[in-house]
Amino acid sequence: MRVLVVAAHPDDEVLGCGGAIAHYSQQGQTVGVVICCRRRIGLDLVDDPTNELYKQAVRKAADILGYGRLWFFGFPDERLPQYAWELLKRIERVAEEFPPDLVLAHAASDYNQDHRAVHEACQIAFRPWKGPQCGLLSFYVPSGSSSSFASNFYVELSQREAQAKISAWATAYGMEHRDSPHPRSDTNLRLLLKSTGESVGLGYAEAFEVEYMKEKRP
Ligand SMILES: [Zn+2]
Repeated sequence: MRVLVVAAHPDDEVLGCGGAIAHYSQQGQTVGVVICCRRRIGLDLVDDPTNELYKQAVRKAADILGYGRLWFFGFPDERLPQYAWELLKRIERVAEEFPPDLVLAHAASDYNQDHRAVHEACQIAFRPWKGPQCGLLSFYVPSGSSSSFASNFYVELSQREAQAKISAWATAYGMEHRDSPHPRSDTNLRLLLKSTGESVGLGYAEAFEVEYMKEKRP
């Protein structure tokens, strides 16, 4: 199975579905991640050193989570809705190169406009009749997703997979850390994995919102 993660910013892939990435990678599935934006607000310079710093962070997190396919689109941070058509075409090109069985992307109800742009582009690129075999799921990003996020699909994580998410966050994205109390504090990320799991009778888990799921005959 090929799993494609479409994240607006470097760090969303870890915050939103780092545990599921580790989980699918551990299972021997091929996981690919798209990072749509450069990170700094209002930055247009392609060769900015800050951008390289974030690319290194993404690669470091990729090593910890265990996935190998990675695409950087390099759109400007905070302005993704202005590039809706270009974003769609880039995603469609990735889908041709790496036809996914399952797509994990941002939720429609997120506060962040780049996140919503990713959701909309994925809805179009992976509409059910031409989309992946299994389905399209939205992930929850602490501090980015709103209370309208409706969890209805859960990926159970082993302790090792949950720890991989925490380690990827702690090791690769130190610049994005916030002290507790904050949705992106280390404390909250740990609690969230545990409370999400326990809320549905599992150990550790990440929650997703189903856009659609389908099961084809073998
Ligand atoms: Zn983001």
